[in-house]
Amino acid sequence: MVGWGGVREQEEEEEEEEEEGGGEGGGEGGGGDGVLWEDLVSRISFHHTAVDAAARDWGSVKRLAPAAVLYPESVDDIVSLVRTTTAARLSSSSSNLTVAAKGHGHSVNGQAQALDGIVIEMSTLALGIQVMPEGDADCPVAFVDAAGGELWIDVLKATLKHGLAPRSWTDYLYLSVGGTLSNAGVSGQTFRHGPQISNVLQLEVVTGKGELIICSPSKQPDLFFAVLGGLGQFGIITRARILLERAPQQVRWIRAMYTDFQSFTRDQEMLISTQKKAAVEDAAGTFDYVEGIVIINNDNPYNGWKSVPFAPQELNSSSMIPKDAGSLLYYIELAKGYDPNNIHAMEQEVEKMLAPLNYIPSLIFTADVSYFQFLNRVHDVELSLSSQGLWETLSHPWINLLVPRSAISDFDEQVFQQLICQDFSGPILVYPLNKHKWDKRASAVFPDEDVFYLVALLRNALPSAGPGVSLRSQIDDNSKILSICHHLGCKQYLPTYNTPEQWEQHFGSDGWENFVRRKQTFDPHAILAPSQNIFQRDDQILAQLRAPMR
Ligand code: FAD
Repeated sequence: MVGWGGVREQEEEEEEEEEEGGGEGGGEGGGGDGVLWEDLVSRISFHHTAVDAAARDWGSVKRLAPAAVLYPESVDDIVSLVRTTTAARLSSSSSNLTVAAKGHGHSVNGQAQALDGIVIEMSTLALGIQVMPEGDADCPVAFVDAAGGELWIDVLKATLKHGLAPRSWTDYLYLSVGGTLSNAGVSGQTFRHGPQISNVLQLEVVTGKGELIICSPSKQPDLFFAVLGGLGQFGIITRARILLERAPQQVRWIRAMYTDFQSFTRDQEMLISTQKKAAVEDAAGTFDYVEGIVIINNDNPYNGWKSVPFAPQELNSSSMIPKDAGSLLYYIELAKGYDPNNIHAMEQEVEKMLAPLNYIPSLIFTADVSYFQFLNRVHDVELSLSSQGLWETLSHPWINLLVPRSAISDFDEQVFQQLICQDFSGPILVYPLNKHKWDKRASAVFPDEDVFYLVALLRNALPSAGPGVSLRSQIDDNSKILSICHHLGCKQYLPTYNTPEQWEQHFGSDGWENFVRRKQTFDPHAILAPSQNIFQRDDQILAQLRAPMR
């Protein structure tokens, strides 16, 4: 078995001598069906630029350098790499070789990194995006098949050509299909359609044993549900089949402001429950999208009241903010899709849906945009911040939480009112989700209440606070918030923990047992996604993984 060190030497020799070299002996134990070892090696880079890029992510908090990066051209390349890694592990108990799929590297805590392992750059997997407007014989509904490394923005562009689109989104679309499905994928549509993982029909997965398996709710369901929300622990998603719906052409986009947290959350909860009521009582319908945002009562253009209107001149003076407002303000963001030929009907429906809400009547803002513009809205923010060096160059010590409805007032008192001060440097999202839209069979963890809130504290470590200073103090602040959350029964979304004990607590005892069983079944050598820090390459853990379950 050639070690990765041997391959590195070979690449360096190739660089020096500009000669083609074969990985002699490399086929031993390696090789997915149909991939020659020599071909695989030609798609692996040890070059420092490749390694540096794979050691970075959006968070810029952690940097773990891999030994090498694979740029797969086919699924067989991935199968081959995983089998080779497994073989290395089996042949040497001291082998620490691991593999992490990297989607778009937009994790905040190194989750797609692999110290001294191999990072798979999923964007090069050349499977493309196939839209099936009528479905096929096995699956007679509209769907799209997308490679795991495709970005959601490209899935949207491809499906819109057919007047179709996925139903459930994230706010930002420059994230990979495999990356969001490894977590959950939530946004303002989640209350209606569930997270993205509730909208998947089928997956093609390379397990940690190097098996290539097509799975769905009816075929190999344990693998299917393990992988959805599975933090990359059980397999690499090479292709996902996503359910589609007819896409609206236009969107009425609305922001309605509040000074009071109780009214803000009460109205959001009413909005996400109207779907059920509408069916029964012929009440108003429902918005397609509901989110809530906490802003600071100042004129910061990014998270103060100036960030609320679509046209800045509509709210350009604090005199429009009620005098009794505190240091925080809130707004609900809503959207309703419509056909431009039927604008009148949409307006009547929107009026009916807004009527029972308690926002400040003078502080409601609307815009009409295309569906594409609406879904891609964060990209405009990205372009603006990027031009000022305030996007990818900063550290982003973000935390995302799922807060039970029964704890959201306490969360407001103990976190928003106490810890979020005037200079909170980033957006804060707070919006409710319906538990019945989440599938308990998937690996994603969520609170056991009918309604829970997504709370995203999306800070940026601004250079103005001094190098490293703001990052350190924000990480300390986050620890305080997480400890409050622990007492309030919250769950982390996009979780980060450092010990198996913390992970066990996160999953709960039944959930943990199931998670460990699935790891035993699908990645018994703990090869995949090592930087989630769930199963370290430690003899005790491996023994636990290999032991028969109770
Ligand atoms: P990566 O960071 O590359 O990978 C994340 C994890 O998934 C790693 O463990 C990796 O090994 C694993 N992985 C990646 N690809 C695969 C694959 N093909 N198969 C198996 N495992 C894989 N999330 C939301 O839910 N809603 C939002 O609105 C939202 N908005 C965001 C906005 C911004 C600006 C950013 C930076 C993040 C946002 N996120 C949001 C979080 C985002 O969904 C997750 O961080 C997601 O994992 C990022 O996708 P990625 O492709 O960059 O994944």
